[in-house]
Amino acid sequence: MARWDDILTLPVQEPSTIQFSSSDLNWFKVEGWRQNVDDVALIPFTRVEDFVKGESSSVECPTRFRVEARRKKAEGSSYKPRVDGYLEYILYWCCYGPDDHRKGGTSRPSRRCIKPSKKKSAGRPHTKRGCVCHFIVKRLYAQPSVALIIYNQRKHVDKTGCPCHGPLDHKAIGTRFMYAPYISEELRLRITSMLYAGFSVESIMQKHMKAIERHGGPSNRDDLLSHIYVRKLERDIRRSTYELDSNDALSVEIWVENHRSKVFYYQGSSDTDAFILGIQTEWQLQQMILFGNNNLIAVDSSFGVKKLKYPVYTLLVFDSNQIAIPIAWVISASFSSHDVHKWMRSLHDRICAKDSTWRLNGFIVDDAMTETAKIRDVFQCSTLLCLWRVRRAWHRNVIKKCANSEMQREMLKRLGHIMYSTWSGSNILDAMEEFMEDFIDQSAFLEYLKAQWMPKIEMWVTAMRTLPLASQETCAAIEAYHSKLKSKLFNEADTGAYQRTDWLVHKLTTEVHSYYWFDDFSEENDLCGYMRDGELASNSWHRALYIADSDVILNDKDLQFAKVVSQSDHSQTHIVWNPGTEFAICDCSWSMLGNLCKHVIKAGMVCHDHQLARPSMALQTYHQALHSLLQCPPNGSIVLDHAIALAIHTQQDLKRLLGLSNYRGTNPPLTMVPGNWVCKKSRTKRKMSTTEENKDVVCGNKVSSDGDNEAVSHKIASAEKTDRTTKV
Ligand SMILES: [Zn+2]
Ligand SMILES: [Zn+2]
Repeated sequence: MARWDDILTLPVQEPSTIQFSSSDLNWFKVEGWRQNVDDVALIPFTRVEDFVKGESSSVECPTRFRVEARRKKAEGSSYKPRVDGYLEYILYWCCYGPDDHRKGGTSRPSRRCIKPSKKKSAGRPHTKRGCVCHFIVKRLYAQPSVALIIYNQRKHVDKTGCPCHGPLDHKAIGTRFMYAPYISEELRLRITSMLYAGFSVESIMQKHMKAIERHGGPSNRDDLLSHIYVRKLERDIRRSTYELDSNDALSVEIWVENHRSKVFYYQGSSDTDAFILGIQTEWQLQQMILFGNNNLIAVDSSFGVKKLKYPVYTLLVFDSNQIAIPIAWVISASFSSHDVHKWMRSLHDRICAKDSTWRLNGFIVDDAMTETAKIRDVFQCSTLLCLWRVRRAWHRNVIKKCANSEMQREMLKRLGHIMYSTWSGSNILDAMEEFMEDFIDQSAFLEYLKAQWMPKIEMWVTAMRTLPLASQETCAAIEAYHSKLKSKLFNEADTGAYQRTDWLVHKLTTEVHSYYWFDDFSEENDLCGYMRDGELASNSWHRALYIADSDVILNDKDLQFAKVVSQSDHSQTHIVWNPGTEFAICDCSWSMLGNLCKHVIKAGMVCHDHQLARPSMALQTYHQALHSLLQCPPNGSIVLDHAIALAIHTQQDLKRLLGLSNYRGTNPPLTMVPGNWVCKKSRTKRKMSTTEENKDVVCGNKVSSDGDNEAVSHKIASAEKTDRTTKV
């Protein structure tokens, strides 16, 4: 039996699953109060919630533990030098106790005066059945980062020692006392997400009942979901308002106060500080741990600079299908490196508190202005540059500002050449001057180029020369997220809302979050057919994979263009100009909106396979990195041994990644999923039904962004309606 003095030397246990329970921990016996023998264990204090959740969802006796008592010592208060002196004390008790409302049961004197009300509120029936199961969490002075769990009574029994709820209690069989007292947080989140996604109360209940029927009747508390409960949630959503105060800043402050668990960084606006709000929900945190570990994070920076009061900075991870999922949003007035560093550090600490082994391989930025030193300082990984913004901006503006399609592709081709020549050391300013002379008639585009790009072109080129470039697949994934966010956010009838931060916070955490959460859930549960608008978070790269090689025709000997057979109508073809380059352009409606379309990507893939095009810019930077590595071999010393070990390690890592990408579209083998989170599901194959780009056009047409011509996109959308694809 451990003595109290020994307790502090016990190992701090950190199970690698998202939730864990007492069965996942090693317990040590210690002599407790009144000669009782208590079980004790140490876990990180940041993971107490995970333990409470895991303990509540035990299979043998589902329940919920709630805080029965909590004491917190004021900071700096003196304390008796005791070995178990604590900063914080929390007593968790099983919801079915300690009082006993059963016939003949007793309640504590303080509770006796409360008469059970006749009107039973849903979900809060008289559940007290005298359960004595409870445990204590102490945060000791000696180790404030650690939680000491003391289990006094582990069995769910009453004073007489008989089981008083759960499947072992004979009197509870066939009643709700067999199950947990409330529906799970996950089901609540699922229902709210479905409501936000547009499902009616009736259809949610129908699906629920069908699912229960399928598994042969109710088997847990969630199966007892009632109409009343769903209707109440629906009403709450309908009545909820983003405007918690007429003053926007105050309103956001109230939101932050009410949603502490979703906020990883908050700095109110003041004379000295800029406004910063970092949002990450529990689900997003899980996705970041699951898909970010030993993997990449990308950003979509400065979304809505023109329209919103403060722009949104999104951090994205890529799931097993390389679809970008938002795992944190930062709304801020300042993106100075000092401010970015503050919230990044806080986010990093939050992840490491959950999983101290979590590591990032690379951080992909999309703006040459980003100070990468700060990112490297926090995440300890390399940074890459993604050029999707440049390509999209040039592509859109060439189409918008120049009416002649032949001229459009010539200009894009030249701009592409200029970008490619970055590595040959030619002077970018000279090249740009030359471009302007050659296209002097295109004054509208040239004015745009001069105003928007000339002041910062050198900065971009420097970034391109110093940072490795991200692939087209990454560009497609980020771009798809960006378009999706646009269609989800900018559909408000009252455009005045765009100038309110509380509106933005509300939108992101409800509708946008629900969309991505529900996508994940529907995929796992094969609910794709239930998606209200049939759209999934797919992207052009992913869609390009479904085009057969034989549908790409490269009959032009100069390779000025390639033809790609339309997937919806095989008698039609799309023409891709400048195939195999980042600045290719296609005549389909999606490309005409400035987007990277699947035809461009597929044509590029075929060109590269046939070695008809030069390597992509990303591949060029890869070659360059390898080349410079070979140029300076370490001399024959211990440094060489390090180099060999690292090179082999890297090679193995690459093999693993290659394997992973070959498994695209199916469950990756468990060995490929970050070790710690194997138990968590991985996102499965995405169904491709009705997810043509035309869908996105329809969504996009509500969006008037970056000077998008709404009328044109609307026309295209309706014209293309007939061109909807069937199953691919
Ligand atoms: Zn209990
Ligand atoms: Zn196209």
